[in-house]
Amino acid sequence: MEFLAILLCCGLSAAVIGKLKGSSFVIWFLIGFSLPLLGTLAAVLWRFERDQPHRRCGECGALVPLHDQVCMRCGLDLDLDLPDGGLGGDPA
Ligand SMILES: [Zn+2]
Repeated sequence: MEFLAILLCCGLSAAVIGKLKGSSFVIWFLIGFSLPLLGTLAAVLWRFERDQPHRRCGECGALVPLHDQVCMRCGLDLDLDLPDGGLGGDPA
């Protein structure tokens, strides 16, 4: 019973930290619950979603995270335009 209480506390702490960083409460709760202490540590080290670079959709003008492949407002496929022409490495 005490072990379950500890798991719940770890889940809640990870969830609160994840939520503060703009991520999902439920997902971080599950991570913290299934990985006690490690989940909380992961939430602490996780990126701030709000700090991620954004770009503007060419179709509707919505602001979407750089890593999104589809606009969440209009559903347009978004190509990743990088100045050097890709993430490195030739396809051949
Ligand atoms: Zn759009």
